[in-house]
Parts: sequence; structure tokens; C-alpha cells
Amino acid sequence: MDAKKKGLKLHWQILIAIVLACICGIWTGKSTSIWGVNFYEVYNFIGTIFLNALKMIIVPLIMASIICGVASISDNKSLGRLGTKTILYYMFTSLLAILVGLVLVNLIAPGIIDGHPAGQALGLTQNAQLFASQLKDKGFRDIVEIFTRMVPANIVKAAVNGELLGIIFFSFLFGYFMMKVTKEYAITVKNFWQAVFETMMLITMLIMRFAPIGVFGLVAKTIAVTGFSAFIPLLSFFITVLLALAIHMFIVLPLMLKLIGRIKPLRQFKAMSPAILMAFSTSSSSATLPLTMECVEKNAKVSNRTTSFVLPLGATINMDGTALYECVAAIFIAQAYGLHLSFTTQFIIVFVALLTSVGVAGIPAASLVAITIILGTIGLPLSAIGIILVTDRFLDMCRTAVNVFSDSCGAVIIGRTEGEKQILAGSGPATNLI
Ligand code: ASP
Repeated sequence: MDAKKKGLKLHWQILIAIVLACICGIWTGKSTSIWGVNFYEVYNFIGTIFLNALKMIIVPLIMASIICGVASISDNKSLGRLGTKTILYYMFTSLLAILVGLVLVNLIAPGIIDGHPAGQALGLTQNAQLFASQLKDKGFRDIVEIFTRMVPANIVKAAVNGELLGIIFFSFLFGYFMMKVTKEYAITVKNFWQAVFETMMLITMLIMRFAPIGVFGLVAKTIAVTGFSAFIPLLSFFITVLLALAIHMFIVLPLMLKLIGRIKPLRQFKAMSPAILMAFSTSSSSATLPLTMECVEKNAKVSNRTTSFVLPLGATINMDGTALYECVAAIFIAQAYGLHLSFTTQFIIVFVALLTSVGVAGIPAASLVAITIILGTIGLPLSAIGIILVTDRFLDMCRTAVNVFSDSCGAVIIGRTEGEKQILAGSGPATNLI
């Protein structure tokens, strides 16, 4: 495949893979075989291996990412107050982002075409009735049940069953308390988890290198069954996500800068433009972190104390674009299945999107892992994730840019509320809202 040519950027590789997959899918359809080998089965095989590889890394990646993130906060006592303020601020902006996504996905309803669920056009074959019955009576009891599931009786069983809320909760506790033990042990255990985290990042990168092939399989499989009708709902899903991300990046965050930080948003965009572009081209907020720190410190003139604390924390727990995307994607999939989402179910999605966006690692395609958690929580099949893979890479670039910009806004606003007057030549003191 052309896509394997050396030096070609991953997003181009994926784009080429999608084009090739469309051609092959249309050409072979579902029943063409050569020498007894059915093409559709080959596409299915490739796509399934890729999806399995993504699922394989979920538990260790989420655990290591949360444990390391929480440990880095609980490690430093003097930063407790700043930590609480930063965490609350970041949770608030993530919630705003999710709400923007929630409103748009309900208004535009990309999963519904001409009044009918887009499931068939997207090649979703599973029985929607079955999932509808699972979702039907979501009510107060289910919210209580989510909290119950957050405290699993058996952590290993939770991991085996893919009950990730329990894993997330356990990892939070573990990350926090592992830094409270005798220093000697704390260092050992921290090093261990840091090593696990870095190893998992490498494995994820490896899997992403195969993304063009995986995407080829998944797209060709869909196209072989449905033809091009699959692209219409995907296009409106794509536009919904882009619109929501744009509203958050160009309206909501600038308003926060202006109202709380008393800073001209344009100055912030200018100061952060190298980091935003880097985030866009790498799809990794972790990889962008060094540049984000440099832009915030050198261009926006935030103190080193604030920068070096707020930004690494932000890169770990604050993912506005990701949280928004998770919410839109999960509701889109539910719409495509023709499921009516009650207020309670939507509330559950918002809650889990917020929680998982905290746990997601700042690496390419990390959201996919989080979306499977949401799908599992509300009772939808994990394999439905396949339909959004086609658009994922480009949307990943966009949401990562939003993630990084939001982190930097946090640093600037927190810095201003800490009394740093030099930041971006703000006009007068920051408000004392936070
Ligand atoms: N790629 C994103 C980031 O690094 C995470 C994601 O949404 O997949 O910020």
C-alpha cells in the first residue's frame, strides 16, 4: 500500500488508506472472492485485529495514566491550594465543552437521516431493539448503580469485564496514596508506574502506526456492505464535532480569558500559535507539552511556578476537546442505533465523558478508548466505535489543538488570579471569581 511509504505523515497515510478502502470496498462488494478467499472476510479480519489491539491497551493505559497523573499532584504538598483551584477550573471548562457538544449533537442529530436512524447506512448490523431495551429504563437507579460500579468488589474482575469506572476510581486512590507511603517505597512504586505508562505510550504509538491498515480494513468492510451511503451521516457527524470544537475554542474559552483573566483573547491565540499548530500536527497533547510550556512562559509571560505546575497537570487531566468529542460520538452512535436517550442517559454520558477525559492520555486516538468506556456504560456494543474511525484522525488533530489551547488558557487565567500582572499585559487585576 502507498500509505506505507517512508516519511509520509500519518494523517496522509490514513487519508490514502481511506481512499483505497473506498475503491476496494466498492469494487469487491461483499461477495467477491479470489482463490476461495473472500475479500470482505479479509477486510473484517484486518479491522478486527486493529480494534482488538486498541481494546487490549485500555486497562493498563488508563491505569498508568491516572496513577502517574494523580501521584504528581499528591507528591507536592505546598501546591495543594493551587492544585485544588486548577483541578476545579479545568473540570469546569471540560464540563462547558461537553455541554456545547451535547447541545449541538442534539440540535443537529447527525445520527438521524431524513427522520430515520443512520445505523443501516453505516453498516451497524447489531440488533437495535436489544440495546433499546437495555437503555429503556435508565433512571435514577442507574445513576446510583454507576456510583456502585465505581467501587468494584473485585478489581481484577472489573478489569476482566471491562468495567472501567471501577478501574478509574481505584487508580485515583492508588495514585494518591502511593505517594503517602515511606519515601523509599513511594519512589520505587512511582518509577514502576511511570515506566508502565511510558511503555504503554510506546505500544499505543505502535498500534497507531498500523492505523492506516486498520482503517483500511474497517472502511473497506463498511463500504463493501453499504456503498457510499455511509458517508452522509459521517459527514454530518464530522461537521457537528468541528462546529462544537470551534464554538468552544473561539467563543467559550476567549470569554473565560476576557471575563476571568481580563486578557485580550487575540493575544493568547498569538502567543500560543506554535503550540496549537504542533498539537494539530502531532495529535498529542503530551508530545506538545514542552512547546506549550515554552509558549506560556516566554510568550504569555506566565511565571515558571505556575507554568510548571498548571500545564503538566492540564496536559493530564484537562481535555476539553476530548471530552466534547466523547460526548458527541457516544450520542451519535446511540442516535444511529435509533435509541432514544432520556435525560438520565444523557446525564450519565456527560458524567462519564467528564470522568474519562480526566483519565485519557495525551496521545493520538486516546479518545477511542474513552468512548468504548461510555458505550459500555450505557449498554451499547463496543464494536460500534468502528464507524467513527474514518473521521477520527482529522478530528483528533482538531480536538488536540483545543486541548492544548484550553490548557494554556488555564495557565494564564490561574496565573492572573495568583496576582501575576505581567501576563499578556492584561488590563487591570483578574476577577476574583476563582
Ligand atoms: N489526542 C488527544 C490528545 O493528545 C487525546 C484524544 O482525544 O484522543 O490530547
